[in-house]
Amino acid sequence: MTRLFLFATAITAAAALTSCQLPSSLVIDEASASAVGVADDSLRVLAVGLEAPTWDSVKEANINAEGPNQIDDTYTSIKTKEKVLAITFDDGPHASNTPRLLDILKERNVRATFYVVGNMVRYRPEMLRRMVAEGHEIGNHTVTHGTLSKMSMDGVRKELQAAHDQIEAATGVPPRTMRPPGGAITKAQKQMVLSEFGYPTVLWSCDPKDWQKPGVSVVTQRLVDGAYPGGILLMHDLHKASIDAVPAALDTLLSRGYRFVTVTELIGMEADF
Ligand SMILES: [Zn+2]
Repeated sequence: MTRLFLFATAITAAAALTSCQLPSSLVIDEASASAVGVADDSLRVLAVGLEAPTWDSVKEANINAEGPNQIDDTYTSIKTKEKVLAITFDDGPHASNTPRLLDILKERNVRATFYVVGNMVRYRPEMLRRMVAEGHEIGNHTVTHGTLSKMSMDGVRKELQAAHDQIEAATGVPPRTMRPPGGAITKAQKQMVLSEFGYPTVLWSCDPKDWQKPGVSVVTQRLVDGAYPGGILLMHDLHKASIDAVPAALDTLLSRGYRFVTVTELIGMEADF
């Protein structure tokens, strides 16, 4: 298993690991459920499951627990001189945004990694099959999108095992990495996840905060400016405005000589460095 030193200081880690949380306005309730195309009987589950994990309330404890030079299987990027990137999309699949994103990726022959949520997967497993058929990777982002760092070890185990089983049942391909909602996970939990599931924990090097909807061109520019060899870009395929920012970002980065690989491929390149 490849190991990566986390070089980030506590300060830079705090800056990098801002959030992949959903804003409160996007917490799914009955009125907005049609927007994500979920069945009525799932409303209660989704309303709980997609509540925003609050990174701000846990980051201090996490960073203090880990220290600046902790060795573990956590990736925010890899060391490489090659112009290679992994672009990741969290919290889907979404009924309309995800298929449109897949079209955008296919047009450019770009492969991505999707950190899907089990409570979303259950209603559209066919989208996961399309992802796999088109060369994308699927990672584990839990079933309920809860804050793992606030859960018991057994709670984390259940979240990941159920999502793992859903993904494998839908596609025949087990996930190989995980991303904790909000980036919130403890050192002990990461060690359990690695030893029991074989998953490295995958965070990100660039968070354009697309879920805050700062404007399509702003998100595009943040992705372009935040890209560097070996980087991991964080996006969310729940939001139309996020998808709108993808074509120009990809086209610009491709024109600058970057190529896109899946997260597992990126991690494999670290071993060759
Ligand atoms: Zn998420």
